[in-house]
Amino acid sequence: TRRPRPDSARELARRDAAYDPLQEHYYSAPPQIERGWREHLIDVDGRHYLDMVNNVATLGHGHPRIAEVAADQWRMLNTNSRFHYSAVTELSERLLATLPAEARAAGTGLDTVLLVNSGTEAVDLALRLTKAFSGRDDVLCLSESYHGWSLASDAVSTSVSDNPIADETRAPWVHVTPTPNAFRGAHRGSGAGAAYSAEAIAQLRTLAEAGTPIGTFIAEPRQGNAGAIEVPGGYFAAVWDEVRRGGGVVICDEVQVGYGRQGDVFWGFQQHTDPEGRILVPDVITVAKAMGNGHPLGAVITRREIVDALAAQGSFFSSAGGSTLSSRIGVAVLEIMEDEALQANAARIGSHLRTRLEGLAERHPMIGAVHGRGLYMGAELVRDRTTLEPAPAETVAICERFRELGVIVQPTGDRQNILKVKPPLCISQDSADFFVDTLDEILRAGW
Ligand code: PMP
Repeated sequence: TRRPRPDSARELARRDAAYDPLQEHYYSAPPQIERGWREHLIDVDGRHYLDMVNNVATLGHGHPRIAEVAADQWRMLNTNSRFHYSAVTELSERLLATLPAEARAAGTGLDTVLLVNSGTEAVDLALRLTKAFSGRDDVLCLSESYHGWSLASDAVSTSVSDNPIADETRAPWVHVTPTPNAFRGAHRGSGAGAAYSAEAIAQLRTLAEAGTPIGTFIAEPRQGNAGAIEVPGGYFAAVWDEVRRGGGVVICDEVQVGYGRQGDVFWGFQQHTDPEGRILVPDVITVAKAMGNGHPLGAVITRREIVDALAAQGSFFSSAGGSTLSSRIGVAVLEIMEDEALQANAARIGSHLRTRLEGLAERHPMIGAVHGRGLYMGAELVRDRTTLEPAPAETVAICERFRELGVIVQPTGDRQNILKVKPPLCISQDSADFFVDTLDEILRAGW
């Protein structure tokens, strides 16, 4: 029997009548997506799109092994983490095994995993932990960041593109220091790390002198939300040192940029070193998105003493966090990443993409910079390379044209002028070339 042709416009109207008006959506007239395979999405009319924005379906869409594990575990058992079963242990141990040796060293190492259902929950729980451990309420975070939607994770989210009134509604315990953007921020070039860290350190000292020393510093190891912006060398070394000497602890939010996506490293924090060249190890890591490949799964990884500090406030329990099903899927994701060498693919395709995008930038002055590494990149679009005037309207129009030509790509950053490039890690070189060739065509022919 032939399926009736879906009326997408009618279904869109039904959605908008019944469903959350606060939810952000891609496109005003979106394709109605029905299925996915690897880095491709297919709509109800059978049209294919290359998905360049999906850092959740990191293994690719429709992965048969995930479908099998999910079906198998559903038939056998799915229950909450108050029961004793092996999947939760296996996932926790495997997660700890992804950490570099420096982060597992005896005494100071990260040795404990807490399982939740999302990045928001991971950040919220991380803040509860660090507030309890430090005994302090005040938090320093970076501008242009996003950490989640709950009361606490939203309070430390400063991006004005996610919340236009973030600056006016800031909670008194939240303090903000400029995101260290060496491309277009107040400090640029090779001295940017030192200049931005000096600014943050001065803020930390002023807060301490005012009787509100911070207990937590939270940041992404690469400024994902701001557009894959590199945190300049030396910045974290100096700021983390000051935070810790003052009695505070550091949360590294790896929800977006971690988990193998950057290619050469599994975790973003591995890119930052102290003056002696040793990897800087955060006190708490938050992770989600890629961890479940779309199944709701998140984690906090930290030291046992930090978890113990929350014990006075009671136990921590999440009904579905660390469920049998979630844990099995989490283990399967890590196994598939290894079996299919997806981190290596992120490194290989990422460096190919960078070379090609940089080549494009030589011919198209509108590409002001190519940020990021591996398969977490941002192509920053400007109207003028000297003034760096952002090109947000052009970026939106270019994304619309991309959609017409079969590629899903979206703007990001406070100025909404950065094309975020974060496809599933299984992306082929042909697909990466298709993306760059399409961008070339759009910039050449207009949008
Ligand atoms: N932290 C970062 C850095 C994120 O990018 C996000 C989601 N975009 C979150 C936390 C929140 O994650 P979730 O949407 O899973 O709640």
